[in-house]
Amino acid sequence: MHKHATTLALLSSFLILFVSCSSPTPAAIPSTDTPVIPTETTLPTETSLPTESPTPTTFPQPSLERPQYVMDLRLNYSTKAATVDQTITYPNWTGETLTELVLAVEPNLWSGGLSLKSLAVDETPIANYTLENLSQRLELPLPQPLQPGGTIAITISYGLILPQMQAYSNPNEVRPQIYGYSERQLNLVEWYPFVVPYQPGEGWLLHNPWYYGEHLVYDTADFDVTVSFTDGSSPQIASSGAEVESGAADSRRFVLEAGRTFALSISTVYKVAQRRVGDVTVYSYYFAFYDAPGEAMLQTTVEAMQVYEEKFGPYRHKTMTAVQGDFNDGMEYSAFYFISRDYFNLYDNTPKNYLVIIAAHETAHQWWFDSVADDQALEPWLDETLATYSERIYYETIHPDLVDWWWDYRYFEFQKAGFVDTQIYDGGGQRPYWDKTYLTGARFMEALREKVGDEIFFAFLKDYYSQFIGKRATTADFFRVFREHSKADISDLMKEYFQKTY
Ligand SMILES: [Zn+2]
Repeated sequence: MHKHATTLALLSSFLILFVSCSSPTPAAIPSTDTPVIPTETTLPTETSLPTESPTPTTFPQPSLERPQYVMDLRLNYSTKAATVDQTITYPNWTGETLTELVLAVEPNLWSGGLSLKSLAVDETPIANYTLENLSQRLELPLPQPLQPGGTIAITISYGLILPQMQAYSNPNEVRPQIYGYSERQLNLVEWYPFVVPYQPGEGWLLHNPWYYGEHLVYDTADFDVTVSFTDGSSPQIASSGAEVESGAADSRRFVLEAGRTFALSISTVYKVAQRRVGDVTVYSYYFAFYDAPGEAMLQTTVEAMQVYEEKFGPYRHKTMTAVQGDFNDGMEYSAFYFISRDYFNLYDNTPKNYLVIIAAHETAHQWWFDSVADDQALEPWLDETLATYSERIYYETIHPDLVDWWWDYRYFEFQKAGFVDTQIYDGGGQRPYWDKTYLTGARFMEALREKVGDEIFFAFLKDYYSQFIGKRATTADFFRVFREHSKADISDLMKEYFQKTY
């Protein structure tokens, strides 16, 4: 069909563009040019998922609602190296006595990327921690058991040497690197050690990295990040946090409440546009000569936030920041997302292109990822299907004449569609993984909506959102809330779209 042919032709041109952008560059000091990929023997085996979020009631409750991360980041923008002093105040909400904590340390996935200088718990130095070379898993034995309801302070000092961002040889199979620097951008994403969630009965939720998809799982936490530049530079800072007074002339400070992950993107050549939506300030950071797509990214983000607030529920942060990424992908963080430079290059001043689609998608992740989180490795459809279907909701509300165009342009069979509830490890390649968890997932949502009608469908989505704001949901939670709204027989959809029955 003509439209599919057009789409495929466009896809081909994307691939050519990607490949042409991917000239191999020798690595800087962190010299591994591929992410550390687990061997088959280390893959997670069958894992039973909890059906309910924990509701701690029978143990002493900590006075602190959630963990607090205070970071003092001193960055040499010229040499791309940083030192960080970090304090994590961790309240034990698990209901169990903890004898160790497990932290995710993603910068250690790059050879030479992280040097741990000191580590202490409640001011007791800890030397017997475990952090293997090129491992993301830091096991921190506690000097004293941490009782339910107790709180400890972990202080960590470390150095970072940022890797150069590299496009991989086949971006259709492996997603691009975001952490690191290019000639015009420095991205600090997953750049600090954080305590991974503890699931009673299961343990610490830290899954292996994979070629595509996201593997991290997060609790909500509060962040207070101070940034200073040791080389006298004063670049622009795009951040997950809202800027507040730092109290010092040579530093800037950003705070984020109840976020999942704190991202920064820094550049000396950003242009910035901003707009208010209610109490929220929305920022768009982009490179010179990209004013039109930079404005479109801002406009789409503003529109999408208004649509999702009405259809799903409130946005939770004070700022929302969108950034032109100097790599071939879009990616969501808390109150923050990137859109690829390639979509900026292809922007044609209409809403009929990937810049607008992906802006609507990444904005939706503030609802489905940041607010209602999930296990991104084992149940990635919960945020990706919903973010993709949110694109449809954006278009039907803002550009209703383009809904048919969106389906045709966005959804086309690449290979035989698989099941929506696929783990990242079973995706079968980046593109088949997208087909299952994003696109077939959007088809499933449309079929579910047709089955029960708009009124029930949107009441369900609103309720699902409000029940899981600030929590993690599972597939079982999704269907439990659905069945609270409809007695419709959906066994046919379950059979067609899901490998398990929920
Ligand atoms: Zn997504």
